Amino acid sequence: MPAEVLETLHRIVKEVNAAEDLGRALTIIVSQVKRAVQADVCSVYLTDFERREHVLRATEGLQQSAVGQVRLPLHRGLIGLVCERAEPINLADATSHRRYLYIHETGETQFHGFLGVPIIQHRKVLGVLVVRQQEQRSFGNEEVTFLFTLAAQLAGAITHAQASGELDGPSERTRPSRFLQGWAGAPGVAMGRATVVYPPADLEAVPDRPAEDEALEEEAFRTAVAAVVQDLMALEDRVEESLAAEDRALFDAWLMMLGSDSLVDRSIERIQQGNWAPGALLQTIEEHARVFDNMEDVYLRERASDVRDLGRRILMHLQQRSLDRDDYLPETILVGEEISAMQLAEVPPGHLAGVVSARGASFSHVAILARAMGVPAVMGVSDLPVGRVDGRELIIDGYRGRVYLSPPPSVRYEYRRLADEDRELGEELRAIQGLPSETTDGVALPLHLNAGLISEMNLQGQEEAAGVGLYRTEVPFMVREHFPSEAEQIVNYHRVLQTFAPRPVTIRTLDIGGDKPLSYFPIEESNPFLGWRGIRISLDHPEIFLTQVRAMLQAAIGQDNLRLLLPMVSRVEEVDDALLLIQRAHDELEEEGLSVSMPRIGVMIEVPAAVYQVQELARRVDFLSIGTNDLTQYLLAVDRNNAHVAGIYDDLHPAVLRALLQVVEGARRCRREVGVCGEMAGNPAAVVLLLGMGIDNLSMNGGSLARVKCVIRSISRARARELLQAALRCETGTAVQALLTNALEELGLGGLVRPGK
Ligand code: PEP
Ligand code: MG
Repeated sequence: MPAEVLETLHRIVKEVNAAEDLGRALTIIVSQVKRAVQADVCSVYLTDFERREHVLRATEGLQQSAVGQVRLPLHRGLIGLVCERAEPINLADATSHRRYLYIHETGETQFHGFLGVPIIQHRKVLGVLVVRQQEQRSFGNEEVTFLFTLAAQLAGAITHAQASGELDGPSERTRPSRFLQGWAGAPGVAMGRATVVYPPADLEAVPDRPAEDEALEEEAFRTAVAAVVQDLMALEDRVEESLAAEDRALFDAWLMMLGSDSLVDRSIERIQQGNWAPGALLQTIEEHARVFDNMEDVYLRERASDVRDLGRRILMHLQQRSLDRDDYLPETILVGEEISAMQLAEVPPGHLAGVVSARGASFSHVAILARAMGVPAVMGVSDLPVGRVDGRELIIDGYRGRVYLSPPPSVRYEYRRLADEDRELGEELRAIQGLPSETTDGVALPLHLNAGLISEMNLQGQEEAAGVGLYRTEVPFMVREHFPSEAEQIVNYHRVLQTFAPRPVTIRTLDIGGDKPLSYFPIEESNPFLGWRGIRISLDHPEIFLTQVRAMLQAAIGQDNLRLLLPMVSRVEEVDDALLLIQRAHDELEEEGLSVSMPRIGVMIEVPAAVYQVQELARRVDFLSIGTNDLTQYLLAVDRNNAHVAGIYDDLHPAVLRALLQVVEGARRCRREVGVCGEMAGNPAAVVLLLGMGIDNLSMNGGSLARVKCVIRSISRARARELLQAALRCETGTAVQALLTNALEELGLGGLVRPGK
């Protein structure tokens, strides 16, 4: 595609992405496309699936009165044909085609040239983008490619704008009970109000929010601008000698802008109209930047990024009056483009009702954290208009991954009923508290807790658990500005060892990298999950590893319930090297006069290579623990954080089941204990298969413990073995899921597994 066409394409996509609602987005599309391909008409039809019609939603070239009026039955006309075929149709003379339909409401004379391309998202045709020409015209390849590429990029923007526009649409009472679809992150239903959180200095992520006190907002804005002026003057002084005069001109330009009425006064005006300072700033900056964006001259167009840069600097100062802890409402639903574990942790206890993240998927660590906290979460809601939902009432369905924005009363009623059912189920589950985790034919399956993400002092299921099967050590490393000292780590580990003593506590050595970054130890990688992660970092930095192991051994003095677990092992040498270092830490401490004992040591099986070398690994250590979250990700080549592929992330995939079986058999041959500590262990349906395989123990978050125990107490090991055999004959994960859902329903436990999306 020639450079200028590409540029037009980028410009249109950008403008559409910034459009505040669907109507505006479509108007931009039709007017720009008509101009770009010099057609007589450009229109967009969107499909109304409920009424089985394609509706003319925007046009340039036909009568405007036809918009919203022209409705074509699903399978009629050329528009219907484009949708059915889901591919472009290019006709020099459309009128002679058998599917041509003459529509008089549009004021259409006979248009001959026709090019229609489908707008597709998630395999679904949402509508058709069409250009028409009065004379006969066969659109060229380049034009077809242009429209085709544009339509592919517009689908997301269209659904996004649609969701945004609905917020301002019909009143609550008449609004359709539409929802935005994401991925089930943590089970449960939450009703509350959205608080949008966004990363520092990210101007585009600033949500709309009303100003609570306009005078205060105005003052904050003026203070921030004054602070930026100070910063810039100081910076200009500092670079005076090292920068050429023309490069320093940028500072003058910025200072001029800050002194100009247009930037400051326009923002203040917006504040006086009721927007809060960051929101007013964003709108003003965008208004300025757009002027430059639309300039033909490349040099001037670049100035748009300088304007946005200036906006970020002002925003940084505004953000210094950060969200007060009291600002969180009692029923806060935290909403963000990409919610981080830290943002979750910042909400004061008792205020957090739910979590919605536009990015991420069910097995992201934030979702795991939400599950551990017992807070419903929906992940990967890519159509969520994050900037426009602050303060809105939301209902989130963490079972099916749905988010309802300002829901109508009928939806609220339905979800209140579901929440009541959940409460009843919770009461039923409490009835089995204190009873052993044992099958109906007397096989015990100990249930342990996953800990480390939230304070273990009041973990759900703490009394009941057989111990801690996985203590993730990353959080204390993530919340600091530097590596925690040996002494700080001793305090942490001692607390959990003591809380659970004499029950065993399995502490995992540091598993940073992947989606768990440390701000003070930046790792820049294009493929972080295949990169420097877990034990690879520990062995490359023995000083970090030795400090951690020394802390663990000292914390265990007097308790003797420590088990040590190595993450992300993919090579036998890693275990050999780690064992040497652990021995070294032990010997050094003894030399220092401390009486420490060697802990039992285990390896995580979470990389396919470890499955195939399970016996070599098992022989070297005392136990194995299967991390199904990563094992599934690596076996299926599906990023556990990526919402685009979350639909094919499946820990019931037959390949995953076979891998698990192979690990269990390998461990058995070496007479080693094997457990599962990934999220699969907390899934009441999957647990049936793990029981059938002969897994020795399970480790899960506290919220899942009662449900899992309920299943174990309702089934025999013999029946679980039969179900496993049946599952191993299934060819798809869907078939396995159906088999297990049926089995639980037969046991009267259907309520434990609500249907997913
Ligand atoms: C796993 O991968 O299954 C696991 C338990 O570890 P994490 O989720 O911390 O990667
Ligand atoms: Mg893992």
